[in-house]
Amino acid sequence: MTLPLPTSLSPSKVSSFKDCALAFRLSAIDRLPEPSSPYAAKGTLVHRALQLLMFEHDPGERTPGAAHAALERAVPEVLDGPELADLALTPEERAAFVADAAVLLDNYFTLEDPNDVQVLGTELFLSVHLGTLHLRGIIDRLELDANGELVVTDYKTGRAPSEAYEQTKLVGVHFYAFLCEAVLGRRPARVQLLHLREPIAISTVPSEQSIRGLRQQTTAVWSAVERACEREDFRPKPGRLCATCAYRAYCPAVGGDLSLVPRPGAALPAPATPLPLPA
Ligand code: SF4
Repeated sequence: MTLPLPTSLSPSKVSSFKDCALAFRLSAIDRLPEPSSPYAAKGTLVHRALQLLMFEHDPGERTPGAAHAALERAVPEVLDGPELADLALTPEERAAFVADAAVLLDNYFTLEDPNDVQVLGTELFLSVHLGTLHLRGIIDRLELDANGELVVTDYKTGRAPSEAYEQTKLVGVHFYAFLCEAVLGRRPARVQLLHLREPIAISTVPSEQSIRGLRQQTTAVWSAVERACEREDFRPKPGRLCATCAYRAYCPAVGGDLSLVPRPGAALPAPATPLPLPA
């Protein structure tokens, strides 16, 4: 085997391999550093505020005011941590960034009443072994519905997919249903994506068939990763993601040079310039 296998796969890594095998390799195998993304940073901030809201407040206390107080607590935790140091926001950019996160929190309250949610856990790390494949994922929120059934909720802070892409995005959701069933022994009755930007909720009911399909797809992706490692053959797939790809300097499809990738054990380069702030 020429390239080492990645140690595990997550839903985002599975979709990264399908989007562009070369970008997957550079991230998951070569482990080249990526610049901080303001989109991801905003997601982390809003997720943390919602986690504090759900975890530290009982039903009846989960108000918009409590959510904003949670956001205030989350801001220094998330934005002043070492992982986001390269974002280097100016005071004005930081204020606009936090104000937009507050809008997303307000939008959240139009999708559900958090006081009705019977939370079992937030940011739950689940993992399972399928043969040589180690699958892992983090569930934003696990709860019980009125019938005592499990519900998985995933918060999204980016734009909701168009109808044409909706089913593709739900594949990730089925992934969480699969992990939940494999680790906890119970299939969730429902999995929902709460898109906070629009705001809209997309919900689906996992079935025996959807879980089986997910298992087959994931196993097929893992076999393809194993083959690509054996042959050291991860091909670029130019498309809409190239414009914001962190690995352009290494990608021959956009004029980069793959031979610049450091060999295993060599010092890693500094990440590329951070992505611009979202408008
Ligand atoms: S620039 Fe495009 S084709 Fe190249 S690695 Fe990045 S996403 Fe893939």
